Amino acid sequence: MAGPLRPGPPARVCVLTPDARGAVAVVRIWGPGALDVADRVFRPARGAPLSATPPGRPRFGRAGAGLGDEVVALVVGAAVPGGPVEVELHCHGGPTPVALVVDALVEAGAEKSRPLAWVRHAAGRSVPAQARADLARAPTLRTAEILLEQAGGALGREVTGLIRGAETDPGSAVAGIDRLLARAPVGLRLVRGWTVALAGRPNVGKSRLLNALAGYDRAIVDPTPGTTRDVVTLRTAFDGWPVELADTAGLRDADDAIESAGIALARARQAGADLTLLVLDRSEPLTGDDRALLARRPAALVVANKCDLPAAWDAAEVGPISPITVSAERGDGVERLVAEAARRLVPEPPEPGAGVPFRRAHVRRLQAAREALQAGRIATAVDRLRGLVPAASK
Ligand code: GDP
Repeated sequence: MAGPLRPGPPARVCVLTPDARGAVAVVRIWGPGALDVADRVFRPARGAPLSATPPGRPRFGRAGAGLGDEVVALVVGAAVPGGPVEVELHCHGGPTPVALVVDALVEAGAEKSRPLAWVRHAAGRSVPAQARADLARAPTLRTAEILLEQAGGALGREVTGLIRGAETDPGSAVAGIDRLLARAPVGLRLVRGWTVALAGRPNVGKSRLLNALAGYDRAIVDPTPGTTRDVVTLRTAFDGWPVELADTAGLRDADDAIESAGIALARARQAGADLTLLVLDRSEPLTGDDRALLARRPAALVVANKCDLPAAWDAAEVGPISPITVSAERGDGVERLVAEAARRLVPEPPEPGAGVPFRRAHVRRLQAAREALQAGRIATAVDRLRGLVPAASK
């Protein structure tokens, strides 16, 4: 049973396992008061209290109000070097047993934290630790691989090389920093991903294309113009890069208030998208709206849809770069479109093993080091770069 609440050293608690049904859930307690709080909650089946148990030795008992849940308690070494020991309670999975245990810990004085709070705490501040923390949120294998390499020291190794050369050859150190900075646009998207908007007048096949790109039905497809009332988004991956696809309302002037709102949203979304796929209907003559969109979106990747039907216009009509010809209905050309979109989003993917800055703070450090090198302030530059190298390899 939880002891009476008295102010003690702070302890935090969070559930490490996903918020779902499962055989086992893991509750983590950390902070200077972790052991104290756990002692008040964990009732060993027999023997000494948990605080008298050496780290790593599992104890069986109960925790929670009333009979409580059966739990295995474990004192574990500090996640942060030199920090106080931490405690894990392994209880039954599912919301009820977890709530029973967590509520008891909170009643005993622990502060409840968000699920990833412990990951952040354990990650610390070094680049590999940050990479491990981001790894938990990497949406695809490809982004996870890059983060794993940074967790393995890829960025640190490359920066160490730059530090060595900074004094003897500042020019090539600047070039090395530029190489790293060129990879930052990818690094900063490893967790967040990219946004791709589908634009085009109504009925050209945007919703159908969205479904073809994502591989399943999500947007409503209807031959009546204006079916897509809002922005439909879904997450997918282009060539391993995480992408949020946004199908925007048909871009035309509409009287209907709801549809107008959808169009406003669509325009806003497109303004912020990393890439716009401008969809045209290959089977109908180009309209004034099509031409206006082409003029307004010169950087868009132009897609000529409905290639399963006879063509009503020539590729050269839409500008110097050939559109990607697809049939959203049949799936023809969709793979080529995905490959081209991925190439536009990430023109130069980092080589395997390359150092990739993946936080804004990394970019700021590199930029500061670059400026210092150019101003001849070598010691300052080295100091800035050192912040990217884990302590053990400095
Ligand atoms: P949106 O208004 O741009 O989102 O267009 P939709 O995706 O709703 O499609 C409008 C109509 O065009 C529907 O009847 C689709 O079945 C049809 N359509 C879409 N893509 C193709 C295609 O590649 N070939 C053919 N033949 N019809 C298509």
